[in-house]
Amino acid sequence: MLKNIVWLGHDTFRISGSRTIYTDPFQINRKDHADIILITHEHYDHCSPEDVGKLKGSETVVVAPPDCAEKLGGSVKTVRPGDRLAINGVEIQAVPAYNTNKQFHTKDRSWVGYLITMDGQTIYLAGDTDLIPEMSALGPVDVALLPVSGTYVMTAAEAAEAARIIKPKTAVPMHFGSIVGSSSDAAQFAALLKGSVDVVILPRE
Ligand SMILES: [Zn+2]
Repeated sequence: MLKNIVWLGHDTFRISGSRTIYTDPFQINRKDHADIILITHEHYDHCSPEDVGKLKGSETVVVAPPDCAEKLGGSVKTVRPGDRLAINGVEIQAVPAYNTNKQFHTKDRSWVGYLITMDGQTIYLAGDTDLIPEMSALGPVDVALLPVSGTYVMTAAEAAEAARIIKPKTAVPMHFGSIVGSSSDAAQFAALLKGSVDVVILPRE
């Protein structure tokens, strides 16, 4: 089920199917081409003009909140929470992402996570967020990509609680091993969900 999802560290995933999608490209060290690039917010480790440039061709559709679009320049589809887009047969919904018990990503910034539906598979990229009420209304999710490092986002325990609410077929920990957090956060996340939600810790490629 996850054969089409490759983790490149932090919140960077390569999702392949009828299109190639990259999320929050950061520290990209491969040659590749993205059909769609989704960016959650304007922090440097998510909205990186240099890394977007490595993956972007003339046909690439870049989707980002307005403050990141400004930083990237060029043609970018801007989104706010709640917006829905259809790009080359891929359905994309921007969903809220914000902190509730810290101030790094306040709700008034209107930063986002994404629900991505491609080839019948729905993937939830949470973005930099805490456990928020909107997570209970996402609808059916096949794969949930959830931050687990604490500090700027959910802790492993909070992320496990989020996974129990979202009820994805598979939960994948992210946002560790680069800026903050370590593989022990991912392991704790998996341990807490044992017997309730299937967790896959993707190898970093
Ligand atoms: Zn951030």
